[in-house]
Amino acid sequence: MVISTTIADSDQNLHSTFASRYVRTSLPRFKLPDQSIPKDAAYQIINDELMLDGNPRLNLASFVTTWMEPECDKLIMSSLNKNYVDMDEYPVTTELQNRCVNIIAHLFHAPIGEDDAAVGVGTVGSSEAIMLAGLAFKRKWQAKRKSQGKSCENPNIVTGSNVQVCWEKFARYFEVELKEVKLKEGYYVMDPEKAVEMVDENTICVATILGSTMNGEFEDVKLLNNLLMKKNEETKWETPIHVDAASGGFVAPFLYPNLEWDFRLPLVKSINVSGHKYGLVYAGVGWVVWRTKDDLPDELVFHINYLGSDQPTFTLNFSKGSSQIIAQYYQFIRLGFEGYKDIMTNCHENTMVLKEGLEKMGKFNIISKDIGVPLLAFSLKDSSKYTVFNISESLRRFGWIVPAYTMPPDAQHISVLRVVIREDFSHSLADRLIADIIKVVHELEGARFTADTSGARDGGTVEHVEHGLRPMERGIAKYLRRFIHGKKTSSVC
Ligand SMILES: *Cc1c(COP(=O)(O)O)cnc(C)c1O
Repeated sequence: MVISTTIADSDQNLHSTFASRYVRTSLPRFKLPDQSIPKDAAYQIINDELMLDGNPRLNLASFVTTWMEPECDKLIMSSLNKNYVDMDEYPVTTELQNRCVNIIAHLFHAPIGEDDAAVGVGTVGSSEAIMLAGLAFKRKWQAKRKSQGKSCENPNIVTGSNVQVCWEKFARYFEVELKEVKLKEGYYVMDPEKAVEMVDENTICVATILGSTMNGEFEDVKLLNNLLMKKNEETKWETPIHVDAASGGFVAPFLYPNLEWDFRLPLVKSINVSGHKYGLVYAGVGWVVWRTKDDLPDELVFHINYLGSDQPTFTLNFSKGSSQIIAQYYQFIRLGFEGYKDIMTNCHENTMVLKEGLEKMGKFNIISKDIGVPLLAFSLKDSSKYTVFNISESLRRFGWIVPAYTMPPDAQHISVLRVVIREDFSHSLADRLIADIIKVVHELEGARFTADTSGARDGGTVEHVEHGLRPMERGIAKYLRRFIHGKKTSSVC
């Protein structure tokens, strides 16, 4: 199956203005070309097509890092040819991963003795981390049930219906029933009381989210822990907790150090976090850490001997790049606690700038919380004339990518816009976004236009945000405008 969303013409061939000097005939789109082409032609063709992707810096839909320091880019480039799995050959890379695991486990208050190492592993992202954590819970539950002579059929996991799709994947791929606590209007995270009510003897764990994907809100892990402790005492089921801290794991320790959500709570047995979200690394790294060695069943761990010491590995895939792990270590030592705290504080402040701007308009209900992941989720007070989907679509013409979506069950009738505030989203971009939202809302309300917005109306796009961009990005924006106007020329770059 080919899933393709190419933007160019729909025939079977690719054309390129630049490459035409080299390529007499066009390239087949879906078949391996018969002949080779010069490297600069190949570069130009691909570079040319990629310009039509959105601008990552203006992609406010994503939590994933879109900017790193040039020094780190250099480290990434120089380690592109290192396969992470070759631990014998690259023991230093392995050592850096181990340091990262330990740094994260300490940050999350894992009970690690002086001479002990933390238990955890680097993954491709939180999704792989969650598969591994889920498998560990399933195995532990099965082992316990077997030892009690009880059935191992029908394991389940309790979550809120606001879980990220990877939990649904885990449930389906590894045959665990997903029992979801439904949301309701005005309450968009898992209710710990209802979650604990749903727990039964087949529950492998309760998965709670630090930073709901829908509105960035932290679920009340402490209350969940306390309620579940009480239930465990009564039932002797020993149901554990996993915290999905994909987005909040690198926010809470710096902004809310006194918030107890991690291994300080006894039932929290594992935590995942995305290195490529607020860990501030480009896409491709996540982490899972376990409370102690006992929380990771031995039979899931494969052992490799390297340099005389025991190297346990627990991952779903085998080969992968080393760059992201090296980049994570760079961020840890470069920023330190202070650096992360400054960046998260800045993100939070820019979120508040945006929040105030939108509140002033009086058109929106803010449904994200001041304490949470730095993002702004907001719905329209009155959706009778136009919807958040119209706003999202109109904002695209200014270059902004702001997603609109409906809330999960049972709050599907609420639809929201979400702006994720990352490190590279500056105060001035926040001001610009507010100005553009105001314009879009006026337009949708049928207000008359002043001359300076006409550029946007005729499909001018990127114009307004362009000013905040670097020359190279301005070039791309210019190219994009030409393309949209059907005036694609070769005078770009
Ligand atoms: C992003 C996210 C995930 C998935 O993480 P990846 O690192 O993209 O695989 C899982 N859970 C939550 C709460 C998330 O925000």
